[in-house]
Amino acid sequence: MKPLFISEETETFRADLAATARSLYEQGWMPGTSGNLSVRSGEAVLITASGRSKRTLCEHDTVLVDPDGGSPLTGESEWPSAETSIHLAVYRGLSDASAVIHAHTPYATALATLAGTGEGGGRVVFEELELAKGLGVADPLRVELPVLANWTDVQRIAADAAAHLDPMPSNLAPALLVERHGVTVWGATLDQARDRLECVEELSRLALLTADRSNPTALGANR
Ligand SMILES: [Zn+2]
Repeated sequence: MKPLFISEETETFRADLAATARSLYEQGWMPGTSGNLSVRSGEAVLITASGRSKRTLCEHDTVLVDPDGGSPLTGESEWPSAETSIHLAVYRGLSDASAVIHAHTPYATALATLAGTGEGGGRVVFEELELAKGLGVADPLRVELPVLANWTDVQRIAADAAAHLDPMPSNLAPALLVERHGVTVWGATLDQARDRLECVEELSRLALLTADRSNPTALGANR
């Protein structure tokens, strides 16, 4: 295989990933070893290592991987996150996505759990919420997020993510939910992906606050 082009900024990216992970831990969104972050580095993808505490994550806890198979590049000593395949599905589907964050944020996870079907195909719709403008979609008045099934086999979740992006939905929002699991967001930069994660989490909180308590799944799911 011909060597992949790696950005000269990779060492900076390693530090950025670690700092953002620690910050998301402080925010309460990456408890313990949960969650993972990645950025493109040239033709490769740099992602957080598997099973590392986000409280203490440092630049050494990151791994350059092959964007096709997800295996670590030569010279990398860490093993990539178990959820790497979901990140790679986003990068393969969207040439303008250069950063991906996956987190088990509480409100998005709760909403995904209420809206999930157990087999995928669920969805959440945010209607007429001003905050949705932060997602950078063409029509923020009606934003729809898919709710994927939480298959035990992560490759299956990745395949569902890839299917969601091909063909590209109109008014695509930069996020997808996984039932009983969490949320994955992307952006052109790590900062933009983080802003969008904050936006999705707050939209989820608003949706739950304004839901019909007698029928919480009526908040947009399955309608
Ligand atoms: Zn996860």
